[in-house]
Amino acid sequence: SRPVLAVVGRPNVGKSTLVNRILGRREAVVQDTPGVTRDRVSYDAVWNGREFVVVDTGGWASDADGMAARIAEQAELAIGAADAVLFVVDATVGTLDEDEAVVRVLRRSKKPVVLAANKVDDPRAEAEAAAMWNLGLGEPYAVSALHGRGSGDLLDAVLEAL
Ligand code: GDP
Ligand code: MG
Repeated sequence: SRPVLAVVGRPNVGKSTLVNRILGRREAVVQDTPGVTRDRVSYDAVWNGREFVVVDTGGWASDADGMAARIAEQAELAIGAADAVLFVVDATVGTLDEDEAVVRVLRRSKKPVVLAANKVDDPRAEAEAAAMWNLGLGEPYAVSALHGRGSGDLLDAVLEAL
């Protein structure tokens, strides 16, 4: 059966926008205010002739205590059911506690991880993307989910991980 890619990360980093970029269609719900995406939604995707399933995640409240824990919990469920994980961070913001919580879940899972440093709309933001090496998850792929910048290289890495 088709391999499953889980897309995880804290709210507002651009997961749903990136899912739409992967799908080549606007199906995942993009939110200007975080925390509104439904829990986990699966979509059929194809890249370079390979079919796979993309799972967009979200669905946690953004304004409550224990947010990092709930994000990690959501991520854990999605990661457990996945063959590989696309971990999305916002290169323009850097890493926060919520990101670190997901990184711990990723380490424990031992699943292959591809790291997307999103919102690199401009080459000048490449340095911020490179700073994501500090997560210890390998090469950060600088992408702009909004404009499509870098998404081809990212998807090639995803296919290798699946
Ligand atoms: P999610 O909560 O992680 O699913 O994030 P969304 O995909 O809903 O995006 C949150 C916000 O970030 C929306 O306003 C998007 O338009 C914006 N966004 C997503 N990707 C990019 C990007 O590559 N560049 C910029 N500038 N904004 C982005
Ligand atoms: Mg979303």
